[in-house]
Order: sequence, then structure tokens, then C-alpha cells
Amino acid sequence: MALRRCTAIVLAAGQGKRMNSKIQKQFLEVGGYPVLYYSLRCFQESPLIQEIVLVTGKDAVSYCRNEIVEKYGFSKVTSIIPGGKERYDSVYAGLLACKNCDYVFIHDGARPFITEEILERGLDGAVDTGACVIGMPSKDTIKLADAGGFVDSTPDRRCVWTIQTPQIFSYALIRKAHESIRLKEMTSITDDAMVVEQETGVKIRLVEGSYQNIKITTPEDMDVAENFCRKLFKIPS
Ligand code: C5P
Repeated sequence: MALRRCTAIVLAAGQGKRMNSKIQKQFLEVGGYPVLYYSLRCFQESPLIQEIVLVTGKDAVSYCRNEIVEKYGFSKVTSIIPGGKERYDSVYAGLLACKNCDYVFIHDGARPFITEEILERGLDGAVDTGACVIGMPSKDTIKLADAGGFVDSTPDRRCVWTIQTPQIFSYALIRKAHESIRLKEMTSITDDAMVVEQETGVKIRLVEGSYQNIKITTPEDMDVAENFCRKLFKIPS
């Protein structure tokens, strides 16, 4: 099989207001390292990934360079660039910084617990149509709400997945989709699959990630993350 050149775009910009912390959630310490360290380490060690583009806040570029990338020897990081106001602005900045790749893994730096197996499943899933998202079947029943705060409907739980990252795309496809959506009025785009859904007819493969692949969002996620760190990396309590 021909070598597929793959770049990881790791997103670490944005304020993360739901964490209620002065330090941005991606830089909070868990298991003795910043949250962002763990996913960078997975991409650094993965034989699938040739290059990492790190997108962070304008004010955090030198912190990321000195305190994370150089400190931990993440030599695959080729660019550390400022992101934008919304997540999709940060992704677009990341796409422009990719050098020469067939596939991109777009990943939230606030999700520390990805594994090589997830990356492998994701890339395999993307080969068919050029688009694959990682997720897990929902454990909870999901209700759609109406504007007045009442239940509108209940989708069949067997069809409901909660979506994670990385999301893996052919570079040409995702770049075109982002360029096309930037010409429009954009509202509430929360992941890259939405951009592909709205702008192309391409079918997006769903592939299982793991229930450990949580996104650090609110303070209680940090307790869960500490526990996972102890278990996964044998960090003493
Ligand atoms: O805020 P939320 O949890 O949805 O953010 C998901 C990821 O997107 C986080 O890793 C965050 O650092 C990143 N992000 C970004 N640029 C923004 C907003 C969020 O890189 N403007």
C-alpha cells in the first residue's frame, strides 16, 4: 500500500469558558503533565503521522513552543500558529499551515486519551470516502428540545452517537469544504464533519473511539481525567 502522508492538526486555542479557570483547560495539569501533552505524545509516537500542526492562542504560542513542544521533544511539530475566534477559524488556520499531506487528523487538544488503535481505525475509516469521524454509541437517551425548553422528540438511541475527535479527512476534501463554508454566514459549527455534511455530498464513516476519549470541558472532567491517568499511565495517587 502506498504511504499515506498524514498531518495532525491539534487545536489548543479558545478560552474554554465552561472550565471557569484562569488557565485554559488545554494547559491545566493532569497526571503531572499539561492536558495538551498527552495527545501530542500519541501523534508524536504514531508511525502514521508525519507532521503535527499545533494551533493555539496568539498569547500562548511561545508557552507552547518552550514549555511543551521543546520541553518534551515533540519533533514532529512543524508549526505552532495562532488560531481564530471560533474553532472552525482555528481549523482553517491549521489547514493552511499543512505542508504536503494526503490526510489530516483534526483533533481537540482538550482530548488527552487518544490511542494508536483509534488513529489506525480512523485512517482505515477515511480511506473509502475521504471522511471519517470517531465517536461512541450514546449511553444515554437523547432528547431534542424545542425553543421553549420542552421535549420535542426522542431519536432512536441505537442511531445516536456522541462524536469525538480526531476526525480524519482527505486533505483536498476538507480544505475545499472549509473554503466553501467560509463564503457563507456560519453559525454553530462545532466540528469538521458538519462542514463536510453541509458543503459536500460525501458520506462520513463513523468509527468507534473509546469511552475514555473524553474532552476536558468542565471542572469535574479533571477528576475523571486524573483517574484515567492513574490507570492508563500507572501514575501513583
Ligand atoms: O470549546 P470546545 O471544547 O468545543 O473546544 C474544542 C477544541 O477546540 C479545544 O481543544 C479548543 O482548544 C479548540 N478551539 C480552538 N479555537 C477556538 C475554539 C476552540 O482551537 N477558537
